[in-house]
Amino acid sequence: MKFSDFGRRFSEPTGITTLMDDLGRAMAGQDDMLMLGGGNPAHIPAVQAVWRRRMEEILADGDAYERMLANYDTPKGNPQFIEELAAFLNRHFGWGIGTENIAVMNGGQTALFCLINVLAGRTLDGHRKILFPLMPEYIGYADQCIEPDTFVAVKPRMEFLGNHTFKYRIDFDALEVTPDVGAICVSRPTNPTGNVLTDDEVLALSRLAQENGIPLIVDNAYGNPFPGVIFTDAQPLWAPGMILTLSLSKLGLPGTRTGVVVGPPEIAHALSSINSILSLASGNLGQTLVWPLLKNDEVLHVTRELIRPFYERKSQQAVEWVHEFFPDDLDYHVHKSEGAFFLWVWLKGLPISTVELYERLKARRMLCVPGSYFYFGLREPWRQQDECLRLSFAQGEEDVREGLRILGEEVRRAYNG
Ligand code: PLP
Repeated sequence: MKFSDFGRRFSEPTGITTLMDDLGRAMAGQDDMLMLGGGNPAHIPAVQAVWRRRMEEILADGDAYERMLANYDTPKGNPQFIEELAAFLNRHFGWGIGTENIAVMNGGQTALFCLINVLAGRTLDGHRKILFPLMPEYIGYADQCIEPDTFVAVKPRMEFLGNHTFKYRIDFDALEVTPDVGAICVSRPTNPTGNVLTDDEVLALSRLAQENGIPLIVDNAYGNPFPGVIFTDAQPLWAPGMILTLSLSKLGLPGTRTGVVVGPPEIAHALSSINSILSLASGNLGQTLVWPLLKNDEVLHVTRELIRPFYERKSQQAVEWVHEFFPDDLDYHVHKSEGAFFLWVWLKGLPISTVELYERLKARRMLCVPGSYFYFGLREPWRQQDECLRLSFAQGEEDVREGLRILGEEVRRAYNG
């Protein structure tokens, strides 16, 4: 069979397809693996109880259950969900948005695929690119553009904070918005590093985008106001030229595949058009489960009282275990864990590649993600690309501790030859 360029590009194995394959098999229990690899959120019993209660409420509410299953929503999303979301964001943050600023998609991943391809690729003015001001960035963007050579990225500055801890900062001196840039994109908190851009960094990026007449995309898959997997006091920010993507996945609902875009009306309109061509409509289960929690603000209780403390405790525990299992004389650095549920570990001078280390760990039933997948768009290779690992701490304590213990042993072995 002869595939088109599109067909070939999107069926080749990539970082994200391998990751989702490993993740899927481990989560389905087919492989007995220590799962420090994927992006699956934890099953937090108190949060699961909220979604179970909501399902029971839907079942008890006349024909609400039948309507949810038997009706297509509009391509833009469920009108009630969109209205409650706009009201919620205005009530708490004064953003002054309307329903015309919102589009619901089948997951944040799909929303970002559409945004990236709406704003970059071939245009009437030539080839336009997405600028990532802080690499490493989310593996899920790496293969999203339909046209090749569509990403450009900048290396960060590094701050060393003592006790094997470091933090990335945007290097604004190196950041140049050339005329071929169609949008700037960041995840906040950042997957894979757990970095959270400060309010000042986001505002500076927003100004830079505005000065250049392009949007700033902020991927809020882990951030505030929901799902709230964020351990700093960073504020949710939005300005008229900004595009904020939100997701219900890390609220504990990845199976509902619900992503939300808050942006200029022309973006929301473009996305809902694409949605109707691609999917007719988005799934309405997640929206039906969540809208009453936006209306009565319960979502803030879920994020502040249940989700954030849960992951913050796990993050602190995981960092302690890394220090316990890694030899102190080793030149390793852990990125300051400010949000999301990953530790980003930099093994400076590692004598083997992290892909080789990944294979050695996999042979011992421990899954993580080699850091090299999280770099794209850089003009020249960077040694650090092959010295980092992403480790999820979302799963059970025993698994995370055992996975980090095995990692400590394998890291020692790698350095000792
Ligand atoms: N953005 C980031 C940074 C992510 O980590 C993820 C998933 O893990 C997504 C977007 C997409 O999430 P979803 O499609 O489940 O909303």
